[in-house]
Amino acid sequence: MTTIYKIALLDGDGIGPEIMKEAVKTLKCVEKRNDINFELLNADFGANAYFKCGDPFPDETKAICDQADAIIKGPIGLNHEESKKIPVDKQPERGALLPLRARYNTYANYRPVFLPKALGHFSPLKAEVVGEGIDLIMIRELVGGLYFGKKEVGVNNKGLRYVKETLEYDEEQISRIMHEALKVSMRRKKVLHNIHKSNVLKSSVLWNEILEEVAQEYPEVEIKHILVDAAATLLCLDPTQFDVMVMENMFGDILSDQGGGILGSLGLMPSACIGPEKSYYEPSHGSAPDIAGKNIANPYSMIGSVAMMLESSFNMAAEAKNIWNAMQGVFIDGYSTPDLSKPGAGVKMISTSEFGDKVVAKLKAMPKV
Ligand code: NAD
Repeated sequence: MTTIYKIALLDGDGIGPEIMKEAVKTLKCVEKRNDINFELLNADFGANAYFKCGDPFPDETKAICDQADAIIKGPIGLNHEESKKIPVDKQPERGALLPLRARYNTYANYRPVFLPKALGHFSPLKAEVVGEGIDLIMIRELVGGLYFGKKEVGVNNKGLRYVKETLEYDEEQISRIMHEALKVSMRRKKVLHNIHKSNVLKSSVLWNEILEEVAQEYPEVEIKHILVDAAATLLCLDPTQFDVMVMENMFGDILSDQGGGILGSLGLMPSACIGPEKSYYEPSHGSAPDIAGKNIANPYSMIGSVAMMLESSFNMAAEAKNIWNAMQGVFIDGYSTPDLSKPGAGVKMISTSEFGDKVVAKLKAMPKV
């Protein structure tokens, strides 16, 4: 009997629709190669939804996401000036992204930072720093901390405008992300880098305390503590020392963009946002308004998010691996999207849609799993 999976597709803003198109091409190819039917349910989400109906996360979209087995989400958001056309609380991240994360309690965000040796030339780092390639994963707590804490804006008793935002974590929130990170470490090199700021933040003191307790259940994993500021430097100077890195919400937001930087582009950064019952998958980056509508965005991050969905939500690890191999194969054949190389001798520049077509062609040529 054909397996049916319902997938909510939230195209998003900016480059979202362009890179989603390539992700859907890939999904359709996977569907043909396997006895599977993907029921794709399109829904509005982000600034486009706000301009259509006054709500960046409309009820119809919530209903579609509720009935889906998994959600694929394109990036959302507008550039600085355009954002001002939307009231602060309805702006895409506050009005849609954080509510999506809260609705499905997607507390574990997996952000692989991966560049095989053969593609080391895409990295802005020196060849001897990239060495045998970059292969680490950042595990970011996604539904706690400063982004989800209470907020207060007003005028204080001195008549000055002020703002107050709260960074809050309880031991349960910390413990569950530590279990995720330690389990991933067990499957990899059994080394976990804990990213914190306990010299300044009390939240990090509790974070570290809970890690020490949870880590006792994983005695084989070596824990290395590193301050977030030092981690930022070492990611540039010596990224190959890292394997699994765990961090709280805001540190993960910032450090994972640096992850994209050391690979050569945010376009190489997919992600999985895992919740207890439902997960959603999105590129780590934003809507890239500067290049939207030009068919030049790199869809690797979006197609990679599909691969992560196949593995995590649908138990299709082998087909996910085929997608990774197909995407890397296109680059290894000498092709490049414009974010990764300057035009010049030896560079075969391709567009967003050409990249998608080449991935599908490679996938079709692979033996069925
Ligand atoms: P951005 O991540 O959109 O872009 C940063 C730089 O990376 C830009 O130069 C862009 O062209 C480039 N880039 C990003 N993805 C690329 C891709 N796939 N291919 C080629 N180049 C790529 O960051 P920004 O410009 O600061 O933010 C734009 C909007 O996105 C803002 O509204 C922001 O709030 C939002 N945002 C949304 C998410 C999300 O949906 N999860 C995440 C981050 C930012």
